[in-house]
Amino acid sequence: MATIDGLPPLREVIAAHGLSAKKQLGQNFLLDLNLTAKIARRAGDLAGHDVLEVGPGPGGLTRGLLAEGARRVVAVEKDARCLPALAEIAAAHPGRLQVIEGDALEIDTARLLTPPWKVVANLPYNVGTELLIRWLTPADWPPPWSSLTLMFQKEVADRIVAQPGSKAYGRLALLVQWRCEARIAMTLPPEAFTPPPKIHSAVVHLTALPEPRFPADAKVLERVVKAGFEQRRKMLRASLRGVAPDIEAKLEAAGIAPTSRAEEISLEAFCRLARIVAG
Ligand code: SAM
Repeated sequence: MATIDGLPPLREVIAAHGLSAKKQLGQNFLLDLNLTAKIARRAGDLAGHDVLEVGPGPGGLTRGLLAEGARRVVAVEKDARCLPALAEIAAAHPGRLQVIEGDALEIDTARLLTPPWKVVANLPYNVGTELLIRWLTPADWPPPWSSLTLMFQKEVADRIVAQPGSKAYGRLALLVQWRCEARIAMTLPPEAFTPPPKIHSAVVHLTALPEPRFPADAKVLERVVKAGFEQRRKMLRASLRGVAPDIEAKLEAAGIAPTSRAEEISLEAFCRLARIVAG
């Protein structure tokens, strides 16, 4: 069957290179190239952009990104077994795919990319949240990337876009939404992957805002939010007691009832409180 790029279908690639999925590397592969091209399109216009891909595996999403016109893809893969398959893709797209063997948690990827760049990845679930937090907390804002289009377990995607009053609302929602526009771009059933995971997945698209939505010191905001959600069933006057002296008065000054709980508080109100705590 003809593929989007003339390279062999992914099932053949996997068979030819003996790429049986390894659970400890979070390997759930996408083998439908129409689907990977669709995910690539969720990242918006790729022409004129470098793309960082973490965990290309046998290269399904990599091929989607190249077919959708990415200027250049830099792909970091920990499993050396995948490198020959990825080398075939690189050979079919001269100068457009650089494959780096290694652990994405240990490589300074930013220096490998030329702005403007985006991140698009079907992430290994065991490192996905850690990488997201790193991309969201660079030394300076705006960050070097313009958008992140990432596959997560559906439950994590729900926590990223959650709004106050929901069970999923917490530190991750506040961290993301403070400096990004975030939405779920696509949900996928287990059968979309080989082997199928136990849970549903979702692609989240995050666009970096030029500046945080509301002013606040990042460290103080993180401290307030962390303390509030560590004991999320407690009233804020109790859970935030260790954050600053006279916390009840500070909560009131921020327009927050000291008897309310963290999950009821909007991002804007948390930022107000962080400014008051910072003095
Ligand atoms: N992108 C491919 C796809 O969509 O079919 C594979 C996705 S699979 C969910 C995750 C990939 O990340 C695997 O190929 C795995 O070997 C790789 N991986 C796991 N941990 C990694 C790490 N720390 N750094 C880089 N790659 C990693």
